[in-house]
Amino acid sequence: MNLIDGNAISAEIKAEIAAEVAKLIDDGKPAPHIATLIVGEDGASMTYVNSIQKKSKEVGITVSVYQLPAGVSEKEVLEVIDFVNSDEEIDGFILQLPLPKHLNQEKVISRINPDKDIDCFTEINNGKLMLDRNTLLPATPYGTIELLKRSGIETEGKKCVIVGRSNIVGKPLALLLLQQNKQGNATVIVCHSKTENLQSVCAEADILLVAIGKAEMITEEYVKKGAVVIDIGIHRLDDPDSPKGYRICGDVKFDEVAPKASFITPVPGGVGPMTMSCLLLNTMKAYGKCRNVEM
Ligand code: NDP
Repeated sequence: MNLIDGNAISAEIKAEIAAEVAKLIDDGKPAPHIATLIVGEDGASMTYVNSIQKKSKEVGITVSVYQLPAGVSEKEVLEVIDFVNSDEEIDGFILQLPLPKHLNQEKVISRINPDKDIDCFTEINNGKLMLDRNTLLPATPYGTIELLKRSGIETEGKKCVIVGRSNIVGKPLALLLLQQNKQGNATVIVCHSKTENLQSVCAEADILLVAIGKAEMITEEYVKKGAVVIDIGIHRLDDPDSPKGYRICGDVKFDEVAPKASFITPVPGGVGPMTMSCLLLNTMKAYGKCRNVEM
């Protein structure tokens, strides 16, 4: 069994981005710039924004944080987005979700300039993804594909089974694996809560990609010997035996599945760190689009 080291691959990507940003600055160009908007004070969003700030700083990308009170009107939210859309100094935009209930999330998302939509939330970018057009990609599926690519795992002609069909993970991942290129060309099956005989469908996979949101649900019976197993799930479980009182795990029962797999991602340290790195890769792509620079 080979462990896929998402931390190492993510560090490699960040080093590449840092070198690109340093070159831009050497050439007298501005550093890439992300803006993020939080409405209200959701704890998870605040933690995520802190993490974006930290990781961006490490590679030389600037971050501006806009925070509006939870009771803000839709008009005021749209005004901030319009400002970000038209500001030539801002390349990438991240809207922290969920928005408070009185705001129309779909309407707010559709206002984002697709060229700055580094989370790939907009309908336009999701449509482009479906049509195989060059676009900014949703960060977690993008990170998953980069993880496979940089681990030397080929997808062409392989049977890939994805468990989960969410709009942010399962569906876009299926589209990426179907694309007519070296990192795609797979035969893709997408499973969900209504799939019959889930265990036997999964056990046929050459590459099993799991995004169910159910802690350690995938046990060794779901996995063919020699399969590649990519665990996208992330959970915090209470664990009185751990010094922290909890442990982090994925959707896959790692200890059982790992001996059967040819390659497997750990949780933490697998797909998780790739999401942030790919958000930064998207920022570089957005810089190219917004400033008409070859990246
Ligand atoms: P969602 O809850 O949106 O989707 C879960 C999917 O799993 C749904 O399609 C659902 O089916 C399916 N599902 C649920 N239960 C079963 C079951 N018993 N059998 C088969 N399919 C089932 O989750 P997300 O896609 O947002 O996230 C999935 C996991 O990935 C979570 O653990 C999340 O924390 C993690 N995640 C990790 C990220 C990272 O950076 N590493 C980023 C994003 C997510 P149905 O559609 O029928 O309801």
